[in-house]
Amino acid sequence: MKKKKTKSKAQHRNMTPDLPQNIIPVGERVFEDKNIYIHQKVYEQIHKFSANKTENEHGGILVGRVLNEMGKENTIIEGFIEAKYNTATPTTLTFTHETWEYFHSEIGKRFKDKKIVGWIHTHPDFGIFLSENDKFIQQNFFTDANQVAYVVDPIRNDEGFFFWIDDKLERCPGFYLFDRNGAKIRNNPWQNEETIDAVSNKKSGGGYIFKVFTVLAMAILLLIIMKQSTEINKLKHEIDNMKNVINNQGMLFQQFFMPGVNETTPDTETDQNTENNSPRNNTVPDTETEQNNDNQVENGQTDNNRGGTL
Ligand SMILES: [Zn+2]
Repeated sequence: MKKKKTKSKAQHRNMTPDLPQNIIPVGERVFEDKNIYIHQKVYEQIHKFSANKTENEHGGILVGRVLNEMGKENTIIEGFIEAKYNTATPTTLTFTHETWEYFHSEIGKRFKDKKIVGWIHTHPDFGIFLSENDKFIQQNFFTDANQVAYVVDPIRNDEGFFFWIDDKLERCPGFYLFDRNGAKIRNNPWQNEETIDAVSNKKSGGGYIFKVFTVLAMAILLLIIMKQSTEINKLKHEIDNMKNVINNQGMLFQQFFMPGVNETTPDTETDQNTENNSPRNNTVPDTETEQNNDNQVENGQTDNNRGGTL
């Protein structure tokens, strides 16, 4: 087991990570023999960190690796450590002894295989450049040929990298955002913030429209239900009418084929008479007799014939 572990570590040490393949360019092409790559998660992290830093300058260091490839020295930024214990004014930032101790402690904890490749600080509302104080910091603490200075203005939504060209600090015209292969890369954090705002506004507007639509839909539904209940009442009424007709016809049938039944079912007879609402019924107290008589008169001939055949 021990042997395997040693071999694995050695393999890892010898492995040279390639230049990022999944990249998008930001700004203009760099013609010097250098390039800057920043992982999009670190880029987003720095923009998030800078977003609300609108009074004093703030900052931190950038960690990663340097890779010589394709005739260029590539500074690859893979991590950000926020400065603590620093002193700052609206236009200056000073990394104290404690700040540097904190940086090294964090590298030991979280970025063991990475080195310091530059620093970042904010310029709240005074644009992208290196002040004399910034140059002093770069010339004293970030002297390596591939160590860069990154400046972010969170109010003007502007940013820029500075790198060493022939021992002079120059502004880098562009850089690359990268991520692991297959990951989607978003190229503009300022645009993303606007998009998020736009989306949330759209959502709240959509909520209002949704409420109005719901109220309208409920009103329409209520109208439909009311109309349907009217229709149902109409249908009920029609069904009642039809029942009456059927009852009447049933009575006629009973009287026609079973004349004796009528005499034994006075309730039905009374109902029928009431339903018929015949004015004559109101004036005749013995409705049952009247009905029977009527029917007998109407059907008398047939009744007699039928009776005769039986
Ligand atoms: Zn500055």
